[in-house]
Amino acid sequence: MPQLNLSHRVQQQTMISFNLVRFAFRSIKLLSHLFVAILIALSASTLQAFDQERDAVPGEYVIKLKPMFSTLDFNPQKLNVQLGSVLGAFVKSALPSANLLVVQRAVVETQKSAIQELSNNPLVEYAEPNLIYRSLKLPNDPDFARQWGLKNSIVSQNSVDIDIERAWDITTGSEEMIVAIIDSGIDYNRPDLRANIWTNELELNGKPGVDDDQNGYVDDIYGINPIGDGSINNPHDNSGHGTHCAGTIGGVGDNGHGITGVNWKVKIMGLKFLRSTGEGTLEAAVKAIDYAVSKGAKVLSNSWGSYESSLALEEAIERAHKAGAIFIAAAGNDGTNNDEKPIYPASIDIPNVISVAAINQNGEMSGFSNWGAKTVDIGAPGVSIYGFWKNGETKSVSGTSMAAPFVSGVAALVWSHEPQLTNLELKERLLRTSRPLGSLREKSTSYGMVNAYYALINEQHPPDPNDPANWESIPVSIETDHPYASYTKKTFEVHVPGAKEISLYFEHFDTEKQMDEVKLINKEGRISHNISGSRGRFYSRIIKGDTVKVEFKADASVESYGFKITKAAYR
Ligand code: CA
Repeated sequence: MPQLNLSHRVQQQTMISFNLVRFAFRSIKLLSHLFVAILIALSASTLQAFDQERDAVPGEYVIKLKPMFSTLDFNPQKLNVQLGSVLGAFVKSALPSANLLVVQRAVVETQKSAIQELSNNPLVEYAEPNLIYRSLKLPNDPDFARQWGLKNSIVSQNSVDIDIERAWDITTGSEEMIVAIIDSGIDYNRPDLRANIWTNELELNGKPGVDDDQNGYVDDIYGINPIGDGSINNPHDNSGHGTHCAGTIGGVGDNGHGITGVNWKVKIMGLKFLRSTGEGTLEAAVKAIDYAVSKGAKVLSNSWGSYESSLALEEAIERAHKAGAIFIAAAGNDGTNNDEKPIYPASIDIPNVISVAAINQNGEMSGFSNWGAKTVDIGAPGVSIYGFWKNGETKSVSGTSMAAPFVSGVAALVWSHEPQLTNLELKERLLRTSRPLGSLREKSTSYGMVNAYYALINEQHPPDPNDPANWESIPVSIETDHPYASYTKKTFEVHVPGAKEISLYFEHFDTEKQMDEVKLINKEGRISHNISGSRGRFYSRIIKGDTVKVEFKADASVESYGFKITKAAYR
């Protein structure tokens, strides 16, 4: 059928000569292209051209009532009668724990005018669009990991892991530790997870269809489903993303099959706030966080984000902090600097938040990982991570989504061993005992990757021998014009007599991503490192031999800085 339609359209175009009908047809086509372009721009969250329209559920707003008004003052059954006309909106739901209401207004209205009107209402403290958050998994392209493998053409001496084997000699976790996975839900019936799934005893042993624990959620046995994708209050995973996170944190260990989580024993709570499409809302995020805290979850694992900030989200995390929980969040997958362009929740400035970057098998921060000398805290494995998926499947996936659960898992492991630690003491412990990696230098606050063993013995990990910052170095002066000119093609050479290996220090690097590239080529003519995008300051990959060729190619100029190399470290 679609083919028929297409040929009909072609026929229409060829047969009808230049007349009004064709003109109209072309105008519609043009408009539809424009519409697609707008959608792409918004979903990529890169362009701020439509700055008043934030990525949110159309027509939905989250409003906080002023302290003198409480959602509890209003009869939940009659909320609309009491408040609907005052707010000029339909009250969709109330979140009493946060004193928030979710309301719906006409979709055609601009966000700006709706926010303005709601904010001016005497009942309202603030109003925000019901923002959309997205899971931070990369497209599941099996070749993606292989491409990374191809780019890592120099075999690094760094073969990194989180040192879990030695950690398991100390502890394998505890059934007392509740970890909330705020994600797409969990396949809680999976045999390799089943024993580690948290259950709400009152609902499990209660009556079906009755809110046995009177928390506003009927039959919330394994957690809740605040996004409403699937059965009510049932956090069953229809995506795979949350189940992958669950496996990393607490796949049942030592049971003879499947994978093993960081914790052999733990209690995993499912908060299904992402739809199967990978999208969640502000409303559902606040509900999930408050629910997890109310049920005693200590570790909150968050593999999702948005470049839009929200007060309601901040306040929910603040409540989790006050309750003594730790909030671990994926740093994002755009390869950008979170210090300059914050992503939420990872960049929220509340002390219990830990922001996690992704590391590959060779100890390098992956090219897709966001970073931030001030706002990203720690690294963890996040490239080609093998784990559970939906419907009993297993899958290798990449993303900071996969890295955050490693930190959540280690946090739970350490806390199960030392339950007296406060959330901030635990955070300090994880950061201070992380394994230093050259690739995380000036890319994170700790410069390190999470290490379960050193966290448990509470000792600092020895320095990274492969961090060129610890080697001898000579000054070098190689740089482009700032900004660099269009269609630049330049080649430089660095020679360090007697060196077995060299790493170049870029004091600053900023080029048009994927278009304008620096290639570092070794003595044998092999490309050892391709560098592109906004990378700040860093040491290059370790290049074998005493000579490195630096090749820079640019197409049309984009007013970027270019780069500046100031040192060659060698050994
Ligand atoms: Ca209940």
